Amino acid sequence: MPWCAHYDLQIDLQTEPVHHPAALCRGALAATCRLRLRNPGPLPVAHLPFLLYRLLKVREVMWNSIPVPWIQKLTHIHGLPRWQVSSVEVSLPSPLALGEEGVLTVEYGGPICGYREVFPYVQDGISPEFTLLRRDDVLFVPVLGTPSLTSLRRIPDERFTFHLKVATDPGMTAVTSGEGESRLLGSRCVHKWRSDHPDWRLDLAVGSYAVAVLAKWPGVRVFYFEGDEEGAHLYLRIGADVSALLTDWFGPTSGRLNVIAIPDGYGGQASPNHILAERESFARRPGETEDQAYARLLGRVSHEIIHRWNVPSREVSVSRFLDEGITHYLETVVARTLLGSSAWARQRLEEYRAFFRKGGEEAQRTPLAEAGGSPARDAIARGKGSWLLAVWEELVGLDVVLESLRTFFEEYRSTGATLDNFAAAVRTSGRGFDVENFVRGWIYTTDSSGPLLRGEDAATIARRYRHVVQSGLSGDSPPAFLPPAD
Ligand SMILES: [Zn+2]
Repeated sequence: MPWCAHYDLQIDLQTEPVHHPAALCRGALAATCRLRLRNPGPLPVAHLPFLLYRLLKVREVMWNSIPVPWIQKLTHIHGLPRWQVSSVEVSLPSPLALGEEGVLTVEYGGPICGYREVFPYVQDGISPEFTLLRRDDVLFVPVLGTPSLTSLRRIPDERFTFHLKVATDPGMTAVTSGEGESRLLGSRCVHKWRSDHPDWRLDLAVGSYAVAVLAKWPGVRVFYFEGDEEGAHLYLRIGADVSALLTDWFGPTSGRLNVIAIPDGYGGQASPNHILAERESFARRPGETEDQAYARLLGRVSHEIIHRWNVPSREVSVSRFLDEGITHYLETVVARTLLGSSAWARQRLEEYRAFFRKGGEEAQRTPLAEAGGSPARDAIARGKGSWLLAVWEELVGLDVVLESLRTFFEEYRSTGATLDNFAAAVRTSGRGFDVENFVRGWIYTTDSSGPLLRGEDAATIARRYRHVVQSGLSGDSPPAFLPPAD
């Protein structure tokens, strides 16, 4: 299957100011999208399949500027009958050979009304007040692939740059990652954006946005909804503190970051180049002091910022441990460090434990290494994965965990990593405890499920792996089988 290396998208957002109050669709798009494709091999490709949102109709398809035949049909993602998609197959005039490139142009249009029948948070749509379109959620641009879970899971593996030209109602601001500018052209406002770095996300938000920056956090812009200025500055303050800490632990991340507010309930998202943050992340509650709001919002804000340091996954079935598991754990370390108290972090770990419990028997009986293919994947990755790191910290200390993560991130940032790579990083940190038993119990078997479900704390769980501790390395007394020290 070819990869897309670049999207060149022209999109016109036509909102409908007059509509029934219960209408799901309050606007439609008309788009021309050019995809620069490359066939990495090994086989030549004669038919190109791609997916589009269920209500988008293809009008024309060209291959290297020449019209080509295509078939579009409405179907569903295999195994998920509620997830309807438009599946399009293009016949190329001659097969695309190994290593060859070409440009696929697709003209299409139609309304976008979210996927709430599949995921409650996918409320993406076009309306006069606010528009949100996410490539991975509503397929508002062609995504190479067939209607299968395999194709959907491939989405985060693609890395592309983009140029975007979007026409909106006047007075609206269109925002995405990278750099952009807006101009009024007659009765339409035209916004041009270009990406900074290759990324797998392509998100477009249109609303009444204003911008805030903070000198202490260079390269970062917060696009907030008008009226939320105080919250935007609080976000910047928290973000600057979290970012300084993470930079200190793991080194700098690259380039510019755009933080884009979205309404509550739409689901936050993060990529190295931009963050979609729910409005709640910017809100100080009535009667709350700024410090109280800081403490309450720290977890929410830090989560998406920590994601900037995650390495991509190269797992055959993605467990989500490498991003979510590690991020959930680091949230607790950030909170401990910035708030100077571990009560918040302890409570958060208990929430993770509860999340694992909620995954039921499936979560308990599936090792982390097999979580990628399990319906309880999230409960395992976030619930148990965060505890794996908390117990590891008990065994080797926070400094060793942070240093090991730094080495791990540096080594796999560009290539991506597997769980075996992570296990190897744990093994190199393992002096003074039974590291093999630990890695086996937490990654490759379910030996760790029992203690977690029984409510043991990290220190108690860690004691199980301490039996090869050398005298003097910890407060424990040496086990009886060690020879007496002279
Ligand atoms: Zn996350």
